[in-house]
Amino acid sequence: SAQAEKMNFQAEVKQLLHLMIHSLYSNREIFLRELISNASDACDKLRFEALDKSELFEGDGELKIRIRFDAEAKTVTVSDNGIGMNRDEVITNLGTIAKSGTKEFFGQLTGDQKKDAHLIGQFGVGFYSAFIVADRVTVRTRRAGLASAEGVQWECAMTGDTAGEYQVEPIDKADRGTEITLHLREGQEDLLSGWKLRELVRKYSDHIVQPIVMTKEKWDEEKGAQVATDEEETVNQANALWARPRNEITDEEYTAFYKHVGHDFQEPLAWTHAKVEGRHEYTQLLYIPGNAPFDMWDRNARHGIKLYVRRVFIMDDAEKLMPMYLRFVRGVVDSADLPLNVSREILQESKDIDTLRAGCTKKVLGLLEDLAKNDAEKYTTFWKAFGNVLKEGVGEDAANREKIAGLLRFASTHADTADQVVTLADYIGRMKEGQEKIYYVTAETFNAAKNSPHLEVFRKKGIEVLLLSDRVDEWVIGYLTEFDGKSLQSVAKGGVDLGALEDEAEKKEVEKLADEYKELLERVKTSLGERVKEVRVTHRLTDSPACLVADEHDMGMNLARILKAAGQ
Ligand code: ADP
Ligand code: MG
Repeated sequence: SAQAEKMNFQAEVKQLLHLMIHSLYSNREIFLRELISNASDACDKLRFEALDKSELFEGDGELKIRIRFDAEAKTVTVSDNGIGMNRDEVITNLGTIAKSGTKEFFGQLTGDQKKDAHLIGQFGVGFYSAFIVADRVTVRTRRAGLASAEGVQWECAMTGDTAGEYQVEPIDKADRGTEITLHLREGQEDLLSGWKLRELVRKYSDHIVQPIVMTKEKWDEEKGAQVATDEEETVNQANALWARPRNEITDEEYTAFYKHVGHDFQEPLAWTHAKVEGRHEYTQLLYIPGNAPFDMWDRNARHGIKLYVRRVFIMDDAEKLMPMYLRFVRGVVDSADLPLNVSREILQESKDIDTLRAGCTKKVLGLLEDLAKNDAEKYTTFWKAFGNVLKEGVGEDAANREKIAGLLRFASTHADTADQVVTLADYIGRMKEGQEKIYYVTAETFNAAKNSPHLEVFRKKGIEVLLLSDRVDEWVIGYLTEFDGKSLQSVAKGGVDLGALEDEAEKKEVEKLADEYKELLERVKTSLGERVKEVRVTHRLTDSPACLVADEHDMGMNLARILKAAGQ
């Protein structure tokens, strides 16, 4: 048409499309799950916006998702009567990727299909997965509340020299919502079957809250084939999974639901599902992902909790429901008490939310404790992916500090490897007779920690020392002053007091040497001037001639280095 406009995809979208098609082919079935997931989100959003604007329903409040196919035209169509999109939304949502860190992420792609497929899983596949099975995709949509003439059509053909661009044009669309038509690639004809599509819906999207409807088919003797009837039927369970009793939900259902709420392509590591009763009543279904998302270090990235009030979707990314250090958790919280018109602003202030957050935090920490105790392998996976995020909790969440400290894993001189497997409890269990403190050393790298001259005396005496070399460690340890009644002590600070571990003879020896070398010490002090507070004789070193130590009350040297690097 005259008003059709050609537009180019953002460069990263082009890359994603290319990769999607080449790396995810063996997972091609996920396209349907992704499109249904989006349709369901769109219905949720409409229901929420309509809470105080019921005219958005346009007289049709029965939200549903419809799947059709046309064997002759070789198309599969997924449509919904959800919120729809206006022109700007179409262009931003389908032509660009808004997630921050996207550019950096794409810079990591290697061209190795296996590795890239894994990375893409971390990134999220979404709408573009349609192109795995289709070489042309047509989206017809109209936002709820707009006139029918304000419909928009978006089309992209991944063939020839038009790949990489799409077309947008205004259309007339009487019914609100979005209709996505996939023009199947050659070889995808098996998808043109009511039986096959039903199978995919039941396998991946059974948990979707809205009914997913398809045309009923019946066997036609004459034609010897299934033929369409005029009736429609719902092909999924269409109820809120989290509202069902736990013992009636299979692991497959929990997993499929996770992929929807978590916008994740991979399996969750673990989950917890509970209905909490009492002064506040709510249901929580919370998941620990199996892999870190690509943007986990971005503290502003989207948070994974969807908030519902009595099954009505309220908002995505309800960051108030989970503390920052548990930002990797995904899932649903459904409150029976919050008002339906609760806004982000109200959430900021609400005491009820504080209760919900405390409850969710406790649940997740409990789940992690349970994993740590009963499934070491899974806990190791968890720790590798999210350990450094969880550590932030030591500083952030004073109320749960001891619990979080119990979940920490460290490298130590016990095994002398970089594997973080030692708990503080393990350490305490191995303490030497007369040892009162938990000793640690911080450094920029594991090797620097392991080879620190500060360790010499500890190694000599067979005293275990925790080797901390992650970026957050220095900060974390600043908050972790004790565990189980034992204080933590840097081996690089002050005149390490080994207490009962110290041998009287050694002490005497040091005093004697200090006296003997008084002049030398003074000379060193004078030549170093302002740069040191004190120069003294030590028994800490067995091989190295000298080392730097921080004063007991000064910040650790590694922290000083970090702050300096940050320009402070
Ligand atoms: P995600 O669902 O993780 O946000 P997607 O790639 O699946 O990412 O979808 C991108 C965006 O396109 C969605 O966030 C949404 O805004 C929009 N969108 C996709 N499908 C629909 C739909 N059926 N109705 C309304 N908006 C949609
Ligand atoms: Mg999606």
